[in-house]
Parts: sequence; C-alpha cells; structure tokens
Amino acid sequence: MDLYEYQARELFEEHGILVPKAEVTDAPREAREIARRLGGRVVVKAQVKTGGRGKAGGVKLAADPAAAELTARQILGMDIKGHTVGKVMLAQPVDIEAEFYVSYVLDRAAGRFLAIASAEGGMDIEEVAATRPEAVARIPVDPAEGVTTARAAQIARAAGLPAQTVDVLVRLWDVLVREDAVLVEVNPLVKTSGGQILALDGKVTLDDNARFRQQRWGAQESAHDDALEAAAAAKGLNYVKLDGEVGVIGNGAGLVMSTLDVVAGCGARPANFLDIGGGASAQIMADGLSVILSDPAVKSVFVNVFGGITACDAVADGIVQALESVRLTKPLVVRLDGNSAAQGRAILDERAHPLVEQATTMDGAARRAADLANAH
Ligand code: GDP
Ligand code: MN
Repeated sequence: MDLYEYQARELFEEHGILVPKAEVTDAPREAREIARRLGGRVVVKAQVKTGGRGKAGGVKLAADPAAAELTARQILGMDIKGHTVGKVMLAQPVDIEAEFYVSYVLDRAAGRFLAIASAEGGMDIEEVAATRPEAVARIPVDPAEGVTTARAAQIARAAGLPAQTVDVLVRLWDVLVREDAVLVEVNPLVKTSGGQILALDGKVTLDDNARFRQQRWGAQESAHDDALEAAAAAKGLNYVKLDGEVGVIGNGAGLVMSTLDVVAGCGARPANFLDIGGGASAQIMADGLSVILSDPAVKSVFVNVFGGITACDAVADGIVQALESVRLTKPLVVRLDGNSAAQGRAILDERAHPLVEQATTMDGAARRAADLANAH
C-alpha cells in the first residue's frame, strides 16, 4: 500500500527526521484557517498517490490565508494522471539552498535493498537518471546489516551529499524497517538556507504482507483506496490502476504484463492492468469494460486475448454481450488469437460496432490503440 505524502511526512517526523510544519484538509475554508495557523504563507500540495504533482500544477505557493483558500479550491478535485485530488496538505514554505534525492527500495531479484541517492534531486530527477546516470549513486544494502552510520556515510559520499545527511539516511532506514516498508523515497531532501536538512516530499510503500503487525494502518482503507480499484475489487476483478491512457484487458497475468510492455513500446502508457483470467465470460468482460471506461484518463482500450481453453468465439460473444450493457464511449481495439480466432473475429465483424476495430497481431493492435490514445 502506498501512503499519501502527509502520511509519509508523519512517519518521518516520528522517526526524528525534520519536515516542514503542515496540516491536511479536504475543505478550502479550513485551508484558510490552517494557513493562518502556519503563519500566512503556505505551500498548497495535492495529496495523490502519484508523482509529478509539481509539474501538473498540484504544488502551489500561496502568499496569505485568502490565497491559500483560493489555491486549495483550485487544487481540490483536480485530476492528476487519473487521480482525483481529495485532500490538500498545507505546509510552511522552506527556503531551499539545494535539493537532493534519496531512497531505499527493495531489490527483489538481488534479495536485498538498494540505496539510491543524488545531489541533483527535485522535479527533474527522472531526467537526471536517464541522461546522466553517473549523477545517481546506487549502493546495495544488506537487509541484515541495514544502514549503519558507516554505510550512510558511504551513500552520502557516493552521491555527493553533505555530511549532515548521514543522520537522515540512518533514520530513513529506521522508517523502512520499523514501518515494514518496501520503499521509502524523499525527493527533494533539501538543505535550507539556514543549513538544516529537511524532508520536503515523501513516498512510502508499505509491505502489504506485514499489515497484520502494523495496526495503525488497519483502520485505513486497504490497497484498494483508489476509487477505480475499489470498484474493480467489488466486482472481483484483478485490476491495478496505472498512470497512462490506454486501457488494457487481457487473459492471463503474463499476457497482460507483456501487453503493458508492448503498449509502452508503442509510445503510449497503459492505464491499468486487468487480467480477466481464463473464463472471460460476458459478465467479466462487461464488468472490466465498465471499470476501464469510467477511468477519465483512458482514451482507448486494447483487448488482447489469446484463446486457450476458453476459445476466442466465446470471448467474442462475451464482448458482443458486454456491448449490450455497457455504452462504449472510447475506441476499442481487439486482438484475438489462438483457439477459434477466426470464428471470434467473424462474430465481431458481424456486430460491426463503429467504435470496435480488430487487429491480427499483438504489435499491430498495440500500435493502433496507442495511436488512437495519442490522437485524442
Ligand atoms: P512532486 O512534484 O509531486 O514531487 O512534489 P514535491 O513536493 O516534490 O514538490 C515539487 C517541487 O516544489 C520541489 O522539488 C520544490 O522545488 C518545490 N517546493 C515544494 N515545497 C517547497 C517549499 O516549501 N519551498 C520551495 N522553495 N519550494 C518548494
Ligand atoms: Mn517530489
């Protein structure tokens, strides 16, 4: 489960990491009160479980309480990469001298953690990592040994961070261990003009397998707190919301995962993972389509089915029946292959829905779905 920034901030604070004074609300009027309490000038920050809020206009400085109310009104309800902003955090502004990046992330393949750090943190860290990987230090962390002061000093040195960050690096590891996280990320970790090291933004992903011993999150909604994921879970669908525009439905987790890759390879981003499994009945198809179509970020949908035990004609029947109960509002690209593919295609051809088109290959279908999404 991903935490919101305000929850991550709270954890950091509990573990002795300096953070800006801040409060969270879902009401613009209350934002004004909070701003007053915090001294007038505040940074208003959208609380959504996705990155890049700054670039999307979800992080704004407000000069006084009245401006804070206005800004909160603007940001609340805003859509950021398909996530609707339900809460804003108001924080005391900080005078930044330098922005760093630090994170610990579970490296499953290597059976250990990885410390990633850079002296060039901030909103362009992805670009730094892509264009100048040497500016990003990657130091393995043995989970049994953890981040000792010596290891923290090594990480800071490798990344070119000031010595004062060593203490924060040790505490951040403590957050990861005590809170059962598989990822903790601070971007930016800043040096203020006063010389303090402060965590200005935080991302924490908790290990869902450890929920039973982390009671404080028990009362919270589970991993399904995204409205779309909640709707999908209620229908028993194996759905995960992603950040893109191409809705994806497939049968079999492996096929769906490679479908995501192929869509990404065609220059578009998948909007979700949805595995309808072996059955692919009309009901599941209708349920899956209705969840995907209700995602405002979706611009096109790619149905990728390889008929096995469930033959493609049954899947095509499922799609045709689903079209009876779900009003199709976005173009649907269907690729049927495998068992009874020809019969399946014939069924869809006969239905001749204006928004449904077919492709014979997975690559061709992905390209078409990507083009449709990008043309939008
Ligand atoms: P993100 O875009 O979702 O990662 O949101 P962040 O919380 O990281 O904010 C984006 C950027 O806004 C940061 O990299 C900072 O440059 C800037 N920012 C956020 N809070 C403050 C602040 O208190 N003072 C200043 N000067 N800049 C801030
Ligand atoms: Mn950030």
